[in-house]
Amino acid sequence: MKACPYCAESIQDEAIKCRYCGEFIDPRSTMIYGPMWSGFEFRSQAEILGYPLVHIASGWNPRTGLPRVAKGVLAVGNFAIGLVAIGGFALGGFTIAGIGFGVVVVAGIAMGGFSFGGIAIGFFLAVGGLAVSLGYAYGGLVISARELIQKVFFR
Ligand SMILES: [Zn+2]
Repeated sequence: MKACPYCAESIQDEAIKCRYCGEFIDPRSTMIYGPMWSGFEFRSQAEILGYPLVHIASGWNPRTGLPRVAKGVLAVGNFAIGLVAIGGFALGGFTIAGIGFGVVVVAGIAMGGFSFGGIAIGFFLAVGGLAVSLGYAYGGLVISARELIQKVFFR
């Protein structure tokens, strides 16, 4: 017996479909299949502090109607949260995304400690078309608190 990754009910080790919640489960790879519109999900069996080493998720969970969120050490998905997060909307230590938040962020809209993007808002460093930073900002339109303070007080 093992626990269904979706509803945590006990199911047979060889089960490919959970009889409680109806999700499909591949017993060999924990790869989960569903209709195309319900997306794709992969969770590595290796875990660190309860989070999978790799979690790739896309599409929508047909049971909850909510987008699948990738959460792991390496997270890849439409919505990704991880130490390394890659996604449409991502939150992480190192983040590559359409819209990203993190310590180091490369994104269309980037917000973080070090941000690189079309619109970059960085605490320490921002590089972008529009760059806003408390520290260093480089870009087409630059707003840097550090430079503003220097201009006002030290010229
Ligand atoms: Zn289940």
